[in-house]
Amino acid sequence: MIAHPFNGTRLPVAILGATGMVGQSFVRLLANHPWFVVTTVAASERSAGKSYAEATKWLDGSMPESVRSLIVQPCDPNVIRESVVFSALDSGPAQELEPAFASRGAIVLSNAKSYRMAADVPLLIPEINASHLALIEVQRAARGWTGAIVTNANCATIVLALALAPLHQAFGARRLFVATMQAISGAGYPGVSALDILGNVIPYIGDEEPKLESEGQKILGTLNNGVIVNAPFVTSSHTNRVAVEHGHTVCVSAEFASSVTPEAALDVLGRWRGDAAAHGLPSSPAGPLVVHSAHDRPQPRRDVNADGGMSVHVGRVRSDPQLHLRFVAMGHNVIRGAAGASIQNAELLAARGVIRPS
Ligand code: NAP
Repeated sequence: MIAHPFNGTRLPVAILGATGMVGQSFVRLLANHPWFVVTTVAASERSAGKSYAEATKWLDGSMPESVRSLIVQPCDPNVIRESVVFSALDSGPAQELEPAFASRGAIVLSNAKSYRMAADVPLLIPEINASHLALIEVQRAARGWTGAIVTNANCATIVLALALAPLHQAFGARRLFVATMQAISGAGYPGVSALDILGNVIPYIGDEEPKLESEGQKILGTLNNGVIVNAPFVTSSHTNRVAVEHGHTVCVSAEFASSVTPEAALDVLGRWRGDAAAHGLPSSPAGPLVVHSAHDRPQPRRDVNADGGMSVHVGRVRSDPQLHLRFVAMGHNVIRGAAGASIQNAELLAARGVIRPS
């Protein structure tokens, strides 16, 4: 485990969108965090002024006692003064609010799509691209602020990127065909109506396919003189909403720069531990990938909560009759795909001294 960056004192943090699906996951994951303590919860005007317990329809287990009586604040950078702000806002409000927090000096860890593809904003997965944090200096120079926006990717993209990273690093991905089966919780709360999803598959998730087809290339890209050069592969995707509570499943067919056998792929996947920058962070799982040999795994119901929901599961690695390789990846969309990812990003920033007590 990495040494405590704040000499044993927990740093106060705020959560924007704290009443929603991802916001609640932040609250739960941070309740006993060794480095951070939640001191402010914020949401829309509908919730502001109520206690967190009153404003929130808590979805999973028991609400932590430490937040029950916090008064929900409006998402106002003049009211919320913490130097670290976790954002679980929808992209609309995030577009305006996240820069407002960064310009008053806060480090904003965002789940929204609004700034993911901005050239000066890191789209961070610590096991893959910790070096992209150098973009923070580019961002500060370009935007004239002392804070920063650091984003995590779309929830299905994070699952795909972690499974693909070792294969891309070893063999060079060129073409991907991807079909997803995405959990209901990915739509937030209350999300999709029960009458629409029970016993059903919905072959459309608004705005999802462009994210899967673009974010992976940035994540796996190379930083060169302050500019990210995207990884040179093309992704074609189908995204589907299915009647699963948590866990996005991604079926992938992939072509690489040269032919890859399933044995070679399994060897690379089994040995991969990711960038050493992620090792020992409180939220990093022992290994970022769990490689399954059983022919019927991974499965959301059986595998999604392993390692606190922070590992990505890979299985069914086999050859492809048209491209080189086929495999299935699955991960927890709200934890590894959202709140847990943001917290791990903040831990990396703290370990690097970008987040420090004011
Ligand atoms: P959600 O359950 O609908 O929650 C949205 C939150 O934003 C609520 O706290 C809501 O507060 C707040 N909010 C809405 N409008 C606001 C406004 N104008 N000003 C301030 N706060 C406002 O959505 P979610 O699933 O948690 O998703 C949150 C973000 O994470 C989205 O950008 C989403 O794309 C992203 N994301 C979600 C997942 C996932 O698996 N769910 C995964 C990755 C990324 P009230 O309760 O007061 O309305």
